[in-house]
Amino acid sequence: MTTDVRPRIALVIAGGTIDSLGATRLDLAGYPEAASRLSPGRLLSDVPELSEICDVREIPFRRLSSYALTPQDWLELAGIIDAVLLDEAYDGVVITHGTNTLEETAYFLDLTTRSPKPIVLVGAMRPASALGADGYLNLFRAVQVASSPAARDLGVLVVMNDAIYAARDVTKTATFRINAFQAPDLGPLGYADADGEVVIYHRRPRAAGSASFCLAGLDNLPRVDVVMSYVGADGTFIDAATAAGTRGIVSAGTGAGRVTPLEEEAFMRASAAGVVLCQSSRVGSGRVPAPPPAKRATWVAADNLRPWKARILLSLALTQTSDVAEVGALFALHVPSEGA
Ligand code: ASP
Repeated sequence: MTTDVRPRIALVIAGGTIDSLGATRLDLAGYPEAASRLSPGRLLSDVPELSEICDVREIPFRRLSSYALTPQDWLELAGIIDAVLLDEAYDGVVITHGTNTLEETAYFLDLTTRSPKPIVLVGAMRPASALGADGYLNLFRAVQVASSPAARDLGVLVVMNDAIYAARDVTKTATFRINAFQAPDLGPLGYADADGEVVIYHRRPRAAGSASFCLAGLDNLPRVDVVMSYVGADGTFIDAATAAGTRGIVSAGTGAGRVTPLEEEAFMRASAAGVVLCQSSRVGSGRVPAPPPAKRATWVAADNLRPWKARILLSLALTQTSDVAEVGALFALHVPSEGA
């Protein structure tokens, strides 16, 4: 009797473009309206080459457009992944996901899952029916990465267009291009390359405080909103978020994190009502430094997190504390640093 020594990979198909079908091979934009997907089992059976490198088992999950996901979906997904990877039978997990919010789910899982085994998210910029569909090769590359010992202990990864990214760094930068996923500040960690090798050029251990957020007992996440600044912005949306009972607001400020005078006033009203404020930038790259001493009682800085990722970290921090200094300390703990 021969023993199967192939890595065993769990595949969670959570929807998105990668298993969507268009009306024709050139339907590359309007296909979400048709809401047509590959039939169950097809995504896997369409890539028979996967069995040459590993044993892939599908784990049931609902298939959605990623912009329809809710915090409850995230909580459930994190629980499934932790349970699957606690099982010694699995060496890694791949999650197929819509690209619109893929980076948000990846960062949420990075902050909440505990396994050192590879956790890889992947999507596609073109539906499975498209001329030049990218999803099948992306899926193969993601499974290659999840099967590789080199991908252990790197936190949650995103594999798109042969590149391997850290969940914190990666962002979608284009609406339709197949190279839409980039890490503007820090670049990819490595590649699942054309010769079949998984090459990691930069090892980024998880930040010291990662996986410190325990989801046990949660059935929702604290509400946190994002408010974008622009010329002439007043405090309407800030006041509305406060009135809606938000626990935190991430300001997507201009430049390195500046807002209009009227927004400043509204943020002070929000803070007086107990809302924790986080300053990020709408620029798309670079750090927002720590606030000046006079603002430290009300504001924390997003560092280089995009506003929608700072929102996730703030929401998780608020499951532990509403104290601004403690939230700031949690943000600092989650900036990856050498030796962490
Ligand atoms: N409609 C998709 C989504 O679920 C877009 C994509 O997957 O590329 O985000």
